[in-house]
Amino acid sequence: MEKMICDCGNEIKEGDVFMNRGTAKCSSCGSTCEIYNEPWFLARRKELKKLAEVPAKILINKETDKLTIKFSWINIFSVLQLGVACLFSIGIFFGSYKAYQDADYVAFLFLLIFVVVILIIFFAQLRFCINKTTITLTADTLKIDSGPLPCANQHFSIATSEISNVFAARYSAGRRGQVTTLEMINNDGEKTTLIASLYSTDEARAIELAIKEFLNLEDEFVVGEFIAPAPFKFMFA
Ligand SMILES: [Zn+2]
Repeated sequence: MEKMICDCGNEIKEGDVFMNRGTAKCSSCGSTCEIYNEPWFLARRKELKKLAEVPAKILINKETDKLTIKFSWINIFSVLQLGVACLFSIGIFFGSYKAYQDADYVAFLFLLIFVVVILIIFFAQLRFCINKTTITLTADTLKIDSGPLPCANQHFSIATSEISNVFAARYSAGRRGQVTTLEMINNDGEKTTLIASLYSTDEARAIELAIKEFLNLEDEFVVGEFIAPAPFKFMFA
């Protein structure tokens, strides 16, 4: 058993290791130390990053000089939210129709604004029901196309020589809750979000690993990458 001892002499507990940040926190003195260069950390990371299988949603087509990855954005939460938005819209539509008939124009205007707000939410969720993304990778270029509905970063293209790392990340993003993304780091160390429409970390990692394999990219640790939910039980071997 390899034990991790803090500078203060305290033994760091398994639950105080943060894989995603590559750090460990001492429960005694409260100091944080970087552990991402430790051989046991790298071994554990490699083990945790292994995928049992590529999720059915991610379609990967590998040819000799071209890699194509396709997936649809659909997820149960967006379908449910869209359903609720539809029911609200129908209810408010009838409410506003009645207000108009009764010549209650203040109520009519108020309901109309409400319908517009619901339609905006409806539209955002609609994208998560019908949009699809295609990633096309050749030795020279990485291309990402999403549609048919407009979205951020709809058409993205970058020379593969600019890419130094790709990784899956997971963070809180307000109304959308936990968001899973695919991030890229260029040769200058700048981070760019490649795909922000993923819901499962397995999906993000399947894409990450396929791109890395095709481009022969080193699987280097990045602070903030998704490895496993943190904190988690860690076995020092
Ligand atoms: Zn300590």
